[in-house]
Amino acid sequence: MYDLHVHSSYSDGDASVEQIVKKAKEVGLKVVAIVDHSIEHRFGLNERKARKRQEEIDKFASKYDIEVLSGIECGIKADGEIVLPKFKFDLVLASIHDFLYAEEYYHRIVECLKYNDFDILAHLHSTMFGSLNGRNLERDLEIIDLLVDRDVALEVNTAHSAPPIDFLELLDMNVKGRVRYSIGSDSHSIKRIGDVSWGFEVARKYLKNGRFVLEL
Ligand SMILES: [Zn+2]
Ligand SMILES: [Zn+2]
Repeated sequence: MYDLHVHSSYSDGDASVEQIVKKAKEVGLKVVAIVDHSIEHRFGLNERKARKRQEEIDKFASKYDIEVLSGIECGIKADGEIVLPKFKFDLVLASIHDFLYAEEYYHRIVECLKYNDFDILAHLHSTMFGSLNGRNLERDLEIIDLLVDRDVALEVNTAHSAPPIDFLELLDMNVKGRVRYSIGSDSHSIKRIGDVSWGFEVARKYLKNGRFVLEL
């Protein structure tokens, strides 16, 4: 199993890199991605912290003999903008962290997909940060087309229970496995690391012909 969305104490998570890597090994993960919030937050992962975190990742990945990826989660701001520190990450995630009306929610996601290079669209239509006044089928289909065209993976996020099942059904019906996917617990504490079983269940059912985001 893999958990490609875990926050560390380099942003707003509780656990150190060593604690995360040790726990990931204990629960039998093959790969864990440490993904901290980007610099749109004061507490986010700037260039200096990214370099320091990478040193720890390399050290503890070899100590505990497990694959550990270095990732970042960028908030999608107005007009789809994301901000990244200067650093070469293994995985760049993008997601909405604001309470928005549907029109603005879709606008940000679509613009972000069109104009930025990133790897994973995280917790789409989250129950925590979803659009406030419902969904729009046409705009959902536009997102699905862009995921295919831009080869961006869709994350199944077990903390946010996102995307909702009806979105996954729509995806399955329309692109039949042409979208890559990722699975993440979005854990901010040590106890949820590897809490991904809902994600794998969903992937088996709705994303069964899709490719995983990593070549494993
Ligand atoms: Zn998030
Ligand atoms: Zn997150």
